[in-house]
Amino acid sequence: MAERPFIYRFTNDLRLDDHAGLAAAAAHGAVFPLLVIDDATGERLKRSPRRAGFYCESIRSLDTELRERGSALCVRRGKPAAIITALAREIGATGAAWSVRYDGAAMDRDNRLQSELEENGLAATMVHDAPAVGPEETAAVRTGDGAGYRAFAPYFEAWSQLPIASYEHPLLLRFARCDAGSEALPHLDEFGGEPAAVASGPAHARRAFERFLREDAAQYAIASKVPADDRTSHLSALLSFGAISARTIVRAVRDRIGDPFMLSEERISLRLFLRAIAHRDFLLQLSWFHPRTNDEPLQEKMRGFEWQRSHRELESWRRGTTGYPLVDAGVRQLRASGWMHPHVRAVAASWLCFDLGVDWRIGRDEWDRFLIEDDLALATGNWQWIAGVGADMAQYPRIYNPERQRRRYDPAGLYVRHWIPELRHVPLDEWYGRRSSSAQLALSLYDAQSYAVPSLDHAVEARAFLRRYREFASS
Ligand SMILES: Cc1cc2nc3c(=O)[nH]c(=O)nc-3n(C[C@H](O)[C@H](O)[C@H](O)COP(=O)(O)OP(=O)(O)OC[C@H]3O[C@@H](n4cnc5c(N)ncnc54)[C@H](O)[C@@H]3O)c2cc1C
Repeated sequence: MAERPFIYRFTNDLRLDDHAGLAAAAAHGAVFPLLVIDDATGERLKRSPRRAGFYCESIRSLDTELRERGSALCVRRGKPAAIITALAREIGATGAAWSVRYDGAAMDRDNRLQSELEENGLAATMVHDAPAVGPEETAAVRTGDGAGYRAFAPYFEAWSQLPIASYEHPLLLRFARCDAGSEALPHLDEFGGEPAAVASGPAHARRAFERFLREDAAQYAIASKVPADDRTSHLSALLSFGAISARTIVRAVRDRIGDPFMLSEERISLRLFLRAIAHRDFLLQLSWFHPRTNDEPLQEKMRGFEWQRSHRELESWRRGTTGYPLVDAGVRQLRASGWMHPHVRAVAASWLCFDLGVDWRIGRDEWDRFLIEDDLALATGNWQWIAGVGADMAQYPRIYNPERQRRRYDPAGLYVRHWIPELRHVPLDEWYGRRSSSAQLALSLYDAQSYAVPSLDHAVEARAFLRRYREFASS
């Protein structure tokens, strides 16, 4: 009897190598590669034009790789359960597999899909592919309730001890031909998208990671907080669409750390980079075990804390015109490129939550309109952590002083000047407190008048916020 194929539904795992989901599907038969554009995918892509452009390019690369292996992506638009059921009947597939997603709404949809397919007599397999170490693997290390970790330090300790699986060369991985006929590949016009300004796809992801490992990773400890250096890996969008596997990254970095000739400073840098990848796994498992935290704080006692829903300065924050150069440069970088330097994200998010007292969900949803990354669980986990309502809650939230951070990490103003043209020719010592400063600024020599003057005082606002926070937390 001819072998029956097994459907693999690609979502945010757009590559063929080191792929846990494909390996699981291949254990059942030749893999039939399917892409379903459902309403939820369409909505996510319509939210951020750059994300849509990046996604469409990633799909094109995946389809090219499949064609090189004698197959092709089969594209359908509509409801996944009906599409997979009809397709399985048409091609004689016994079931479908896909990889788990980690935000609450997607998890609900995936669970419904699994039930519907099983009711229709099909096997339905969900696989952890996005993290380097799956949530259940780290949870199993704990002897407690099996509900994962809420604090990063013990999580990282457990994570560091665990081996990393490899699906690099699954013996059984063969692809079925797409004989069922495919709709057109997704095109950015469909989602109001913009052409991708940054490269995407598995081949680029591998090159980008190898370049980072060769040239920048050994300086990560010193350079990763300096936005003008721009020497973090820039892998976040590629990871969020699965162009490269986190397992591939961790295995390669662990191998490098094992090199006996490596300098100790370099080893420290690589460990810090591994910590960043582990942080990603940590937040994914947090959302996996606490799916309702997409919209409410992980910390139960902070659920009633009253954040502002509006503020006279909210629009300035959105547009990058607060008068605090590091905050504004970060927001402008995001709006212009779809990415913001990681440390600047923390400073700009802190300003919204503490200087304005505005709800972290408003900040998260605002940035989601511009980010290429498509990872709500990571966005939520980071915003909750900054706002002091999520994992690892210290006694009081960490409030960044935006001007001190600017002086420390962008002392020559290179990053700020790049993103804020109004400050390009203004001397550094005139940047802060300009309202009362030198008469020189009155000269047309400088363009300072066109850059915003801060309308609130960080020290005053941060103290007022802390007072309110303390009262609430101790009540
Ligand atoms: C307020 C705030 C909001 C954020 N929103 C998002 C978001 O919407 N989507 C998103 O993917 N990331 C988010 N991050 C995390 C991080 O800033 C981005 O992933 C950033 O793009 C990493 O840049 P990089 O790839 O050069 O990082 P590198 O420093 O080179 O790190 C390597 C990889 O580790 C992971 N990583 C690093 N830092 C974090 C972190 N704090 N949390 C989780 N994973 C991390 C990322 O996958 C990253 O690509 C947010 C951080 C903050 C402070």
